[in-house]
Amino acid sequence: MTDQPVSKNQEPNDRHIVVVGGGQAGGWVCKTLRREGFSGQLTVVADEDCDFYERPPLSKAVLTGEPELPTLFSDTDIHSLDIHWQRPRSARTLDADAHTLTLDDGTVIPYDQLVLATGARARIPVAAWSDVPGVVTLRSWQDAVNLREALGNTPHLAVIGGGWIGLEVAASARKLGVEVSVYEMQDRLCARSVGEEVSAALLDLHRNAGVQVNLGCTDLSLEPTADGQVEIMARGLNTLTTRLALVGTGVSFNLDLARQAGLAIEQGVVVDDQGRTSNPDIFAAGDIAQHPKLNLCLQSWAYAQNQAIVVARALMGQSEHYDEPAWLWSDQYGTNIQMLGVPDTDSRCVRREEADGPVFFYLDTRDRLTQLVAFNQARAIKLGKRWMSSQRTLVAEDLADPAFNLMSLR
Ligand SMILES: Cc1cc2nc3c(=O)[nH]c(=O)nc-3n(C[C@H](O)[C@H](O)[C@H](O)COP(=O)(O)OP(=O)(O)OC[C@H]3O[C@@H](n4cnc5c(N)ncnc54)[C@H](O)[C@@H]3O)c2cc1C
Repeated sequence: MTDQPVSKNQEPNDRHIVVVGGGQAGGWVCKTLRREGFSGQLTVVADEDCDFYERPPLSKAVLTGEPELPTLFSDTDIHSLDIHWQRPRSARTLDADAHTLTLDDGTVIPYDQLVLATGARARIPVAAWSDVPGVVTLRSWQDAVNLREALGNTPHLAVIGGGWIGLEVAASARKLGVEVSVYEMQDRLCARSVGEEVSAALLDLHRNAGVQVNLGCTDLSLEPTADGQVEIMARGLNTLTTRLALVGTGVSFNLDLARQAGLAIEQGVVVDDQGRTSNPDIFAAGDIAQHPKLNLCLQSWAYAQNQAIVVARALMGQSEHYDEPAWLWSDQYGTNIQMLGVPDTDSRCVRREEADGPVFFYLDTRDRLTQLVAFNQARAIKLGKRWMSSQRTLVAEDLADPAFNLMSLR
């Protein structure tokens, strides 16, 4: 990967930039390109037939409130972006040598520069589960509309997978008065993204809301019944029959085009801190773009927006570099949970009890913050960002003492 301005021989505004994917990252690339003065041709290939939208509300407000497409930008803003839409169209073939993209209807689009913002799709661990009536996943607006309707027609929901999406849907279902059973393979919730202390707090949150949480589930099977329901079996548990089972067991990144183009791929597409892939004319943004420092795909709203903005600026030849820590949030039962940083097995946990909820600080052997998880404490996250960027040394006893004013460490 080279860290030099794009368009060595061409003025930015003479170029044709093609964005594949009409999600959050694709939207922010387009918006930023125009904001930074790009007046060349801008094409977006999107396989969903709607304007750019953001996904966090799909597991929350869309299920429990008014079902309104959570668009990223107003109609006026979208119009002003002057996008040539290819929608609904799927990009099928990327020929990086020829600089062409071929769509599912055979249209061949030449590009000067291309941004892959293809996101991810829900992964079902056992292929046969997809054919079981009542087994659903949640990724798109249409999935959310269908799930919302299904929740209105069932007294009970089974959630397969105790990760963030599963838990958010569990919380939304409880709000609607639906009984919920969660089946998690690991012995704790959200094990990949938080420490065991946070998992325990999440477990309390859900059990207190009446969710039946089954941990350490093995030999899980989902079978159709003769009357169109789902039968759920797991070793050591009673068989459960339900109308609706949401599978929330992770995602597969949409990497086919990146593979065809021969891009370097690890967990996702390998990019530098400007989103540039191993091909200088192809960039990647959002979920598929591996974080340049953490070497993992974050699947985070903040990353999909802010990394995409940096990509667009790099396309305009600017020298901004993406350098943000991981930051994600979740809303469950009115509790706002924010996570800064990623888990580190060598760090120790310091728990602080605040009136609004607990804060978990994870400190490395040199007492620097590696991860912070805050329940209803947005201010703590702001402080944590500063501490992380300055590598500040912290005193565990102070952090744990609710009488100690964290703001004094600003
Ligand atoms: C239900 C849900 C709730 C979430 N809640 C939170 C949250 O609370 N907090 C948080 O930080 N993050 C949350 N996230 C994660 C966040 O929404 C994602 O990280 C973000 O949407 C990633 O944006 P993206 O543009 O990379 O991918 P996407 O938003 O998935 O957009 C990619 C688009 O590209 C399309 N596409 C793929 N392949 C092609 C192709 N070949 N041709 C044309 N189009 C194609 C896809 O269909 C999709 O429309 C949530 C995600 C989901 C699904």
